[in-house]
Amino acid sequence: MANYCQECGKELISPNAEICPNCGVRLKEIVINRRSPVIALILSFFICGLGQIYNGQFGKGIAYFVIYLVCIASVALLIGLLLWPVWWLIGMVDAYVSANKINAGEDASRFINF
Ligand SMILES: [Zn+2]
Repeated sequence: MANYCQECGKELISPNAEICPNCGVRLKEIVINRRSPVIALILSFFICGLGQIYNGQFGKGIAYFVIYLVCIASVALLIGLLLWPVWWLIGMVDAYVSANKINAGEDASRFINF
């Protein structure tokens, strides 16, 4: 399968090329699967963990959702009144920051990314 530069259309000799030899554009940044930080945040606003799943971090998203359920359950012990909103906010901020890190090609593998 031949690869082509998305910028100038020239065929690339190496499929792993990072920079197009013809126009000099960074290919990895274009190839990268971009995530919208705002969409990730909004998804986590509605369902804690969904923004992480949107970011491609499926296991982490499930873990966030499970912790969220535990926080809700702990409302019966009153401590949940604090844990629930705090974890909900952490879920939203992490989804936003993780999406930015993924877009920048940075390491977003930490469980809480901020
Ligand atoms: Zn090019």
